[in-house]
Amino acid sequence: MARVNENYLKLPGSYLFAEIARRVNNFKQNNPEANVIRLGIGDVTRPLPQAVIQGMHKAVEEMADAATFRGYGPEQGYSFLIKKIIEVDYAPKGIRLDEDEIFVSDGSKSDTGNIQEIFGLDNVIAVTDPVYPVYVDSNVMAGRTGELGGDGKWSKIVYIPCTAENGFIPELPKEKVDLIYLCFPNNPTGTTISKDELKKWVDYAKKNNVIILYDAAYEAYIQEKDVPHSIYEVEGAKEVAIEFRSFSKNAGFTGTRCAFTVVPKEVLGYTASGEQVQLNKLWNRRQTTKFNGVPYIIQKGAEAVYSDEGQMQIKALVDYYMSNAKIIREGLISTGLQVFGGVNAPYIWLKTPAGIDSWAFFDKLLNEANIVGTPGVGFGPSGQGYFRLTAFGSRENTEEAVERFKTRLAL
Ligand code: PLP
Repeated sequence: MARVNENYLKLPGSYLFAEIARRVNNFKQNNPEANVIRLGIGDVTRPLPQAVIQGMHKAVEEMADAATFRGYGPEQGYSFLIKKIIEVDYAPKGIRLDEDEIFVSDGSKSDTGNIQEIFGLDNVIAVTDPVYPVYVDSNVMAGRTGELGGDGKWSKIVYIPCTAENGFIPELPKEKVDLIYLCFPNNPTGTTISKDELKKWVDYAKKNNVIILYDAAYEAYIQEKDVPHSIYEVEGAKEVAIEFRSFSKNAGFTGTRCAFTVVPKEVLGYTASGEQVQLNKLWNRRQTTKFNGVPYIIQKGAEAVYSDEGQMQIKALVDYYMSNAKIIREGLISTGLQVFGGVNAPYIWLKTPAGIDSWAFFDKLLNEANIVGTPGVGFGPSGQGYFRLTAFGSRENTEEAVERFKTRLAL
């Protein structure tokens, strides 16, 4: 008899997006004429940059010729891509990394979800709240989180609230924790952390033997000077942090799939008897056993992101979405709504009007303005009373949505 991993049974169904789909379908059935604008899901809409397309076309041709055909590649990624990552993303910031500290993968979702496998089940994890759900759910599946309470919190997870009250700056945990997930620029709040604030986390991690799992999937959206693009800009971070980066949001790879994770050799974990272990070795073992590398064609596309044209084209992509973010942000502020994010991130996080919770605002926005967004409470208990809009739509839809906020929504 095959016993199942009962931890999976503890997970509430993927309630958030299923419930959104249910409500939208219901609305459309009753209002077939309505032109619904979707600013809910965090997927990009602009096509891949030309440089990427050219890089991939060339690689396709290589695959058609026995002399240049590639089969299995290195599980950790091809050196041509890793060299570019180091040279363009890290070296100019004074961050020195070896090639074997970078692991190319098929996405930050896989990596942020899988990284917990190299840690013991008795580690206590901390997450900021609201949070990208993958960090929590992957730990639930592993059996690290205890039970889900009526307050929407897992009994063994330490939640660090990030709300308007604390300016979305997480406070260091008071409890003893072992692993901390941080994500900046943040999904869902669109807010960031300054280098000084991030330094407090690195110092804390060093002092308390904590590992920081730093998700920088949105670093390309940073516009302001003082906001770090990488945690390794903070001195000492290479001893305590693993960093996740993705080509999904800077270069439109959400459907193409390429990302990378940095595991410096200095980052150490411990055995029960106190022996030090390089996390780099464990992640390498994990990846080489369970992952067979990103396709050559895709890595060639990712390499092209680092060419001069590629860099210009991805900047244009990010600028496009950030102009949308500005339109949403300024438009909503003009309606009197309290608005956060959207300055260094493609997410706008708004406070719902007094007396209207996240889901009630979802219904109101759908019914009155025919706009779909994401209820903040779906990202964690501290998201209650907030609502997320994304800047990933077309310019036309973004402008139309803001117009509807101004003219159709009774605030
Ligand atoms: N991390 C965060 C915070 C995200 O919001 C997302 C996607 O929305 C990801 C990771 C996943 O990125 P990828 O497409 O590389 O799997």
